[in-house]
Amino acid sequence: MNEGLLRDKFARTIRDLRISVTDRCNFRCFYCIPDEDITWKRKQELLTYEEIILVAQVAVGLGVEKLRLTGGEPLVRRDIEYLVEELAKIPGVRDLALTTNGDGLKDRAAALRSAGLTRITISCDSLKPETFKVITRRDALQSVLDGIEDVIAAGFPAPKVNCVVIRGLNEDEVADFADFARDTGVSMRFIEYMPLDNGHQWDRSMLVGGREVIDRIQKRHQLLPVQRDTPSETALRYAFADGAPGEIGIIAPVTMPFCGECSRLRLTADGNIRTCLFSMVDHNIRDRLRRGETREQIAQFIIDTVLKKEEGHRINEADFVQPPRTMVFIGG
Ligand code: SAM
Repeated sequence: MNEGLLRDKFARTIRDLRISVTDRCNFRCFYCIPDEDITWKRKQELLTYEEIILVAQVAVGLGVEKLRLTGGEPLVRRDIEYLVEELAKIPGVRDLALTTNGDGLKDRAAALRSAGLTRITISCDSLKPETFKVITRRDALQSVLDGIEDVIAAGFPAPKVNCVVIRGLNEDEVADFADFARDTGVSMRFIEYMPLDNGHQWDRSMLVGGREVIDRIQKRHQLLPVQRDTPSETALRYAFADGAPGEIGIIAPVTMPFCGECSRLRLTADGNIRTCLFSMVDHNIRDRLRRGETREQIAQFIIDTVLKKEEGHRINEADFVQPPRTMVFIGG
């Protein structure tokens, strides 16, 4: 592990940079993105690949080891394979991952792997076409399943599948998703619904807590806890007690917050650093890049920004205020 120069006020070291490459998405998941009247950023407002690469190089020089490309939908940005290839070349990058909705992934996974991508996470909230359509407002379940198959065929180690569990919509599918993990060998990640939705409609009653997800799966399959690889890992992990392939992960930011171990920083597609998903402020790095600041100046800006990282989100506090950016405009 290289020396971590990005330390915040709470003695956390930043090792993980999530890079949103676009605010655009071809899905309209109700918990993430507006359904209509979307004002996309103009092309010139988005960081160019060269600008993203520069920020990544500087961040890695400061101790970041994991990069994750996200969005919006990262596969809708042209030539994403080029960006992957360039980021993979940065000495010190130990992990280069991508989170995608999986639509249009079919026949692209092998190329992404040869470009240097080390891991892929695909989001899939339902195995039922109708429910999938209600959540994403797109009739694309088969395309996503084909994408998952392609990722497995391309030989990515332990592909992950993200599922946001929402009361009344898909909580009855949790055990079916566990079967899916057993059949395909993927690692299923069940995520608690967070107040980052467009309509600010989030309500605790829609949340299905991580504990309930485990209980639902245990009614069908016995689970055994798995040791985390690193303390900053977001998921509580479980293996199947009977030794079946696949894994279960619980990501429970609301009921079991993991802010104390957070090692993440985010770069939005329009060139802002965000210190927390729930930050009320953005830290504009794009204008500094475009003013021609030196790498040293950019590095100092990142160091100073990390010092402003919040101790934790305040979802469970009475005075919690939802950030103005919804998930799609932050990068999950
Ligand atoms: N388009 C890509 C995808 O679908 O995976 C990447 C971006 S998406 C914002 C990343 C992840 O954030 C997805 O797994 C999505 O389900 C999750 N997400 C979005 N809004 C969320 C919310 N309000 N609560 C919990 N997870 C959310």
